[in-house]
Amino acid sequence: MKVALFSCKAGEEGFFEACNKKYQQDLFFFQSPLTRQSTKLAKGFTAISVFVNDCLNEEVLEQLKKQGTQLITLRCAGYDHVDLEAANELKLHITYVPDYSPYAVAEHALALMLCLNRQLIASHEHVQQANFSLKGLMGFDMYGKTIGIVGTGKIGSILVKMLRGLGCQVLAVDPVVNPECIQLGAQYVDFDKMLENADIISLNCPLNSSTKYLINHNTLKKMKDGVMLINISRGAVLNTSDVIDALKSKKIAYLGIDVYEKEKGLFFEDHSEEGIHDETLSELLNLPNVLVTPHQAFYTREAMENISQVTLENIHCFEKGLPLKHELTTIVSGN
Ligand code: NAD
Repeated sequence: MKVALFSCKAGEEGFFEACNKKYQQDLFFFQSPLTRQSTKLAKGFTAISVFVNDCLNEEVLEQLKKQGTQLITLRCAGYDHVDLEAANELKLHITYVPDYSPYAVAEHALALMLCLNRQLIASHEHVQQANFSLKGLMGFDMYGKTIGIVGTGKIGSILVKMLRGLGCQVLAVDPVVNPECIQLGAQYVDFDKMLENADIISLNCPLNSSTKYLINHNTLKKMKDGVMLINISRGAVLNTSDVIDALKSKKIAYLGIDVYEKEKGLFFEDHSEEGIHDETLSELLNLPNVLVTPHQAFYTREAMENISQVTLENIHCFEKGLPLKHELTTIVSGN
């Protein structure tokens, strides 16, 4: 089957080509994202594959349907960028990859915490300049600290396990209690209790109507002074402007984010020639104790292998009329 893969970057082709030896699909790789303008590239492709910042609004889905697309495979775990209602109405099949490697993402969240706490970036820069003084490098013991985990699904529960291993107390917030986290010794509390008591808060929930701007001026006020905030979920779970104010007032002492609410068109690309034209992000990057990574938490060898495998397996199943794995349109409509 002819398959168009959009937003193919960072060596993804190699993973797909290796895995495709088994499936023998006719793969076309496009580096460009799927947008309203680029939808025409998908003409003649029964199956397409997209990533986190591709556009799958009603207009694009309608156009894809008109052009003959029947299957859309998301190469990611989040699906906040898809108009699932429209997809259902258009009878488009949409699959995703919910568990390609929650370890990759949880480990990155922990890496952000440790790197910020122990000032590893500054330390490395000092040493490179022959400055071996310890000035400005003091951290704190993770042991005994209280960590607020928002979202205890696949990623959050792995993070709970790792943090319990470090001797941290965990206050969990999630409308769905995960028994594995209880067993690990996490305590489920309401959101405000977590905000008031956590030394570090990690956001691991999906972006939806209940989590958009969950971290805002009002919720920031309830946090401990000097809190560390980590976000690997989706950028708009926190209000970036409010977070900048909280960094300036020292309410937040450390911020580690792998996602940014206006990352579309910015992340996954090299902008070193023209620089950053986003004032909010520029302001953020100029503040101390802020660590921003370009949506790389998922990016491990194992995760890339799993993404290729599940995507190609679904395309194969679709071609043969077999049941699809992780079909979103069915999950959401409850069929
Ligand atoms: P998951 O579905 O296994 O877990 C999400 C958890 O969040 C669920 O337990 C759910 O009940 C909970 N939740 C929903 N609304 C909530 C709320 N208002 N407050 C607290 N908890 C809430 O998903 P996952 O695999 O753990 O992934 C979580 C999110 O991480 C994804 O939706 C995606 O946006 C993001 N993600 C980011 C990267 C990255 O590279 N940065 C990679 C994968 C996933």
